[in-house]
Amino acid sequence: MSMLQVTVGDDEVHEYATGTTAGDVIRNVHGRKSGAVAAVVDGEQKDLSFILTKDCKVTPITGESEDGLYILRHSCSHLLAQAVLEFYPDAKPTIGPPIEHGFYYDFHMDPITDEDLARIEKKMQELSRTNLLVTREEHDNASLREMFADNPFKIEIMDDKIEDGAGSTVYRQGDFVDLCRGPHVATTAVLRWFKLTSTSTAFWRADSDRESLVRIYGLCFASKDALKNHQTMVREAAKRDHRKLGKDLQLFHIDEMVGAGLVLWTPRGAVVRNELQNFISEHLARQGYHQVYTPHIGKLDLYRTSGHYPYYQESQYPPLVERDLMAKLSDEGCSCSELSNLMEAGEIDGYLLKPMNCPHHIRIYASQPRSYRDLPLRLAEFGTVYRWEQSGEISGMTRVRGFTQDDAHLFVTEDQIAEEVLGCIELVEEIFGTLGMEDYRVRVGMRDPDSSKYVGESAAWDRAESACLEAAQSLGVEFIEEEGEAAFYGPKIDFVVRDVIGREWQLGTVQVDYNLPERFELEYAGADGEKHRPVMIHRAPFGSMERFVGVLIEHFAGRFPTWLAPTQAHIITISEKHKQYAAEVAAQLKSAGIRVEVDDSDNTIGKKIRTHRAMHPAYMLIIGDEETANGTVSIRNRAGDQAANVSIQQFTDDLTAEIQSRAAEPSLIGED
Ligand SMILES: [Zn+2]
Ligand SMILES: [Zn+2]
Repeated sequence: MSMLQVTVGDDEVHEYATGTTAGDVIRNVHGRKSGAVAAVVDGEQKDLSFILTKDCKVTPITGESEDGLYILRHSCSHLLAQAVLEFYPDAKPTIGPPIEHGFYYDFHMDPITDEDLARIEKKMQELSRTNLLVTREEHDNASLREMFADNPFKIEIMDDKIEDGAGSTVYRQGDFVDLCRGPHVATTAVLRWFKLTSTSTAFWRADSDRESLVRIYGLCFASKDALKNHQTMVREAAKRDHRKLGKDLQLFHIDEMVGAGLVLWTPRGAVVRNELQNFISEHLARQGYHQVYTPHIGKLDLYRTSGHYPYYQESQYPPLVERDLMAKLSDEGCSCSELSNLMEAGEIDGYLLKPMNCPHHIRIYASQPRSYRDLPLRLAEFGTVYRWEQSGEISGMTRVRGFTQDDAHLFVTEDQIAEEVLGCIELVEEIFGTLGMEDYRVRVGMRDPDSSKYVGESAAWDRAESACLEAAQSLGVEFIEEEGEAAFYGPKIDFVVRDVIGREWQLGTVQVDYNLPERFELEYAGADGEKHRPVMIHRAPFGSMERFVGVLIEHFAGRFPTWLAPTQAHIITISEKHKQYAAEVAAQLKSAGIRVEVDDSDNTIGKKIRTHRAMHPAYMLIIGDEETANGTVSIRNRAGDQAANVSIQQFTDDLTAEIQSRAAEPSLIGED
């Protein structure tokens, strides 16, 4: 028998007999508990049962790895289909891919209930314990058609995907067989940490004219802990869901009559937004920004020049046309489609709800002659923009159709890019730091070196890219360079924050732009007396106020730091007798600028505390006989810790100091 040279490590070579499987090698080298679910043989993913017939390199794919999880989840979808067929022999399995955190499988069958789901999951566990071998078979097209003759969906897949004479593989476990390329786990016993979660309706080929299918979703992980952690995370995420908390805490409202994706900031939410805007504005003032205001619409010509129209029409609200022009066109018998063609061709003008603030700011720049002494010119606006999102994409405050960006445009000389990008980064650092969002990372989008789609000189790009990289480095947080992720008009920096439960949120961006100054022919007079073209930097580091506040609601689980809390002190009376004194306390706190709410209703003290605790004020003040007699208050924080008989003046001073320091956590009780 000839021997094979099998590379098993960086340069470790073992000798095996022909006929040895990839799994044998891995067991031999990495032990029985290697956690391998499949193997990579000479760069290709293979089943552990893959038989080695030539010299090769073999490495394990462990269940924890990304590829391994994919295989586990894909294998779990087969297990699900097998279990479903045990109960519903007439169900037709269609497709069953792995997805993030798990898998699904679509079946042509009658709808099932939650009890059915539990029963199917139990059957999957049983099939796992039975330790069925999962085997791969190769078949020609004729044999495949015979095997799946009673499943028109699989036949349709074959018609589409398998060329004449190509054949394919199937995977078999017990009496279940599925058309599949694999690889798969070696036995069903490997599949242990899964959980079926829900069902939904899907259409074959995502086409609503085709058959309606039952989709069954499941989770699958490589270990018990990983599955448990994920389930805990999902439960925690549901509790923190800003759509739920936003309603419970009366922070915002989305109203069908106003329109989907259009956020109404209610008084309590408006406080949070306003505090944040003030905070950001203070920094911008320190950094030499100028505040501007611009209207919500602009002429189509503006957006033709910027390039936003007609190219991004599908993500914009349709244009507005002047009434006189409309009347004239209608007299001429112009049809809707002619109107839109005329508009696109630039033959009639109209207005667009602004999809971006940049063109307006550019016209402010261009409104007077600029010299190098005016630069950098930094124009900031909490500017509201409108984008058309598909209704299926809209969600709470994080995917909306109208939003206010923390926007600014910097008009700079080439030499000023590095310092200005750094300034943007410092703002982000300061604000994330204050909000206790220490866990964030930065992505630097660079050119694709092999592409020629980029505007601007290559040497200028090199400088701008290294400016972005240096700025990102200076943060001292994790950052990655992403080649090919730059826009065609310049490199960019994106901010991604990880919340307390490990989810990532993409916030805003800092973007260098060589293109718009060109399109609008912007100029400044240089020290040499010649005309030069400025570079623009767009920056909206927190994205939009809607998205940012949505993320903050989830980050804080509705328990905002005192300075951001919609109400900072809720005053609660124990009985009717304390009404007068409660009003005096409230007046004193309000005159110190503290946001106060008073509950002097007839409800029991227990009920009042429960009701107000649910609103997560920073502090509750309880007013009874003793407090009224002594001119004091009793304070209660969110954790339920209490401090009795604190003088009003003392409390006012301490709370004011806490608000001014923008402390991340309320800390008036328990420190001393
Ligand atoms: Zn498969
Ligand atoms: Zn912009």
